Amino acid sequence: MAKQNKESRCSFCHSGKHETLMLIEGMDAFICDKCVTQANQLLAQELGTKGSKNIQEAINLLKPLEIKNHLDQYVIGQDDAKKVLSVAVYNHYKRLNQKVDADEIEIEKSNIMLVGETGTGKTLLAKTIAKILHVPFCICDATVLTEAGYVGEDVESILTRLLQAADYDVAAAERGIVYIDEVDKVARKSDNPSITRDVSGEGVQQALLKILEGTVVNVPPQGGRKHPDQKMIPVNTNNILFICGGAFDGIERKIANRLKTQAVGYKVKKDETVLDLKNLYKYIMPQDLKSFGLIPELIGRIPVLSHLNPLDKETLRNILTAPKNSLIKQYVKLFAYEGVELIFDNDVLDFVVDKAMEYKLGARGLRSICEAIMLDAMFDTPTQTDVKQLHINLDYAVEKFEKADFKKLQAA
Ligand code: ADP
Repeated sequence: MAKQNKESRCSFCHSGKHETLMLIEGMDAFICDKCVTQANQLLAQELGTKGSKNIQEAINLLKPLEIKNHLDQYVIGQDDAKKVLSVAVYNHYKRLNQKVDADEIEIEKSNIMLVGETGTGKTLLAKTIAKILHVPFCICDATVLTEAGYVGEDVESILTRLLQAADYDVAAAERGIVYIDEVDKVARKSDNPSITRDVSGEGVQQALLKILEGTVVNVPPQGGRKHPDQKMIPVNTNNILFICGGAFDGIERKIANRLKTQAVGYKVKKDETVLDLKNLYKYIMPQDLKSFGLIPELIGRIPVLSHLNPLDKETLRNILTAPKNSLIKQYVKLFAYEGVELIFDNDVLDFVVDKAMEYKLGARGLRSICEAIMLDAMFDTPTQTDVKQLHINLDYAVEKFEKADFKKLQAA
């Protein structure tokens, strides 16, 4: 043990005990509070760079095709969106390493806009990309944002969430991915620039511009409004990838207008609506977003645009069983924990899909329907130690589904 006497000094900076707040004693040395802080900062810096190196390694390893192959394991269908996303993400992280050469060609940031009905996998795609790249990820809802100074959240709160997701590692957050959901809800209410204040529409779009482009934003670490006495964390958004998503209800008419096709059959048959929408979403162009009410500056900062197709029966059926962590695989695993082998008949799966289609619940509804069918079994099985196998057939599924409170499912 080092002797702590009157002459005790920090072994690193030689400050005397009286010059420090605290002198920590080791086996044969002392260290003062200042040196501890400094060492801590060095460590954070070093680990931060290492983290970035890891991301770069992941990117070096993963080409667009490989990113898409990863996405295929979790997200069914949506090939167009996956391809666009894989390329955009690949280019984005390549951009992070760019050196501005003599030719002064600077690769610009490729924020992404995903347009598609709710529940078609927009969030899932963004989440899965972040998981593949091991970068911090957060989801924000554009509907809660308002222009600074009004009731609601400031756009900076988006970055607070990202910082929280990164455990306040600023360097990691600065290379993270943010998914902004329901961005269509901040569309300008009319095509004309607003005469009155539009604090939850155009005002938010203006505020979003700032962080989407790349700037240093002072972020309140705990969220909430800025207080003069609150310590802010500066976050550079230059390398943060923003993926925006929205259903853009009614945009098909704008697309149809542009294409000068007549949107025939929208209201005639409901099935036809799905088909027409599917075809029209494919032709989405930035100008349709403008006619919908996004301001051109914002559209300009989200240069990559892709669409998601509405989910048909076959896709829903695949979603139930095919993804790596599909619903059915999850139930089988849950029951395996109890030592019970769980078997679903194929017609049960078809029944679940039919009900999801019938009640227009989409992929989100698959879970509610399965829960309704499986609730009793999940309640009883843990106390029935003699049960080793559970076979879910159609009669059982129909009985449990009908017993369930349907209104609850519709609210899903
Ligand atoms: P969105 O963001 O488009 O509204 P989500 O990505 O949140 O929809 O999808 C809701 C849920 O539905 C997901 O958690 C996932 O379980 C399921 N899902 C939706 N689309 C797909 C898909 N294409 N492949 C696999 N699962 C999907």
